[in-house]
Amino acid sequence: MENGNRIGIIGDGQLGRMLTIDAKRLGFEVTVQGPTSNSPTRQVGAEQIIADFKDGNATRELAQRSDYLTVETEHVDTLALFELSANGARVNPSPETLRVVQDKFAQKLLLKNAGIPTARFREISNYKDILEAAKDFRYPFLLKSRFGAYDGRGNRVVKTKKDIDDALITFKVQDLYAEAFVDFQKELAIMMARSTSGDIAAYPVTETIQKNNICHMVLAPARIDYRTNDQAQELAKDTMEVLKGAGVFGIEMFLTKSGRVLINEIAPRVHNSGHLTMDACITPQFEQQIRAIAGMPLGDPEMRDRGAAVMVNILGDRQGKAQLKGLSDVFLEVPNAHVHIYGKEETKPQRKMGHITVIANSLEEAIKNAELARSLISI
Ligand code: ATP
Ligand code: MG
Repeated sequence: MENGNRIGIIGDGQLGRMLTIDAKRLGFEVTVQGPTSNSPTRQVGAEQIIADFKDGNATRELAQRSDYLTVETEHVDTLALFELSANGARVNPSPETLRVVQDKFAQKLLLKNAGIPTARFREISNYKDILEAAKDFRYPFLLKSRFGAYDGRGNRVVKTKKDIDDALITFKVQDLYAEAFVDFQKELAIMMARSTSGDIAAYPVTETIQKNNICHMVLAPARIDYRTNDQAQELAKDTMEVLKGAGVFGIEMFLTKSGRVLINEIAPRVHNSGHLTMDACITPQFEQQIRAIAGMPLGDPEMRDRGAAVMVNILGDRQGKAQLKGLSDVFLEVPNAHVHIYGKEETKPQRKMGHITVIANSLEEAIKNAELARSLISI
């Protein structure tokens, strides 16, 4: 390839694995930075620098071995990325955007300052601030960790004054902010992509269902009216204006009971709500990310046909060595089911171990088949 064919990814988990598979399919070489031995990425042929995501020196080494640098997580050393980018490395998305997004409070401020609707939120720097938030938002409200959270692990719904004390035992007060509880009717998400030349591709609006704060199912297309669809698409476009650099971005939203769309949060990377694009859309989100960061034209984000697609996550439900069972049963009993296993050696409760996408003529059928497929698999 003209400008080189070596891609460097910070992160060695399932997103890096699926990025690696698509990058290799397109003829790229991949090196990742991550701490896991026999990582999901290494198993599919990525070279690996064994180091924490946040290890800036490892990122500098990664840059030396890559023509294009990207991330599968926002929890990276953004100062190292700023420096590399200033010295001519092709880093996407922009380190500036990674830096803002990795602080959930800064992210919310960025959106607010751009006039993008979100849940109300407040900065918290001491106990008194929390009591003021309770007075302002009323119970229940949320305390969220500003840094390092994922899969709902940094969130607490506060229902009473006692919950505040419990939250403070788990979290440090300096790292928190408060958010009003949104009594949503649905959660929605859109995957957006931007190329280095600034073209935008918008994937269909999906409906996401979380259980215990973790993504459980994603439905496409979302069961919403065209006005809501337009509102979500418009908001996603506006949100892209405040995000910099090329790549795929996951935009999570709430649809309130009164029909308003609010932005929940942004992932400056491929995202769980885009997994169904692998089997249901013309261009998978992972291929799209590779195209975007390597300066290529974007692919068509539309669904392959008029049908419906449902993705269900395979979360671990015990602690121990992963052992996949039930694959044959899925193949025997569920039509049009696409199983993706991430190759993690250890299973843990609520750990993302894989996912299944089912395609069908209607969402009802796809949901039913996805639930059946999920029930047949254990890991
Ligand atoms: P992930 O990495 O899976 O996206 P996260 O740790 O970044 O999760 P959030 O997206 O902030 O966490 O929250 C996870 C889920 O918790 C949301 O999808 C939603 O179901 C619920 N939630 C978050 N904020 C609110 C809110 N203000 N009101 C109501 N529910 C909320
Ligand atoms: Mg989220």
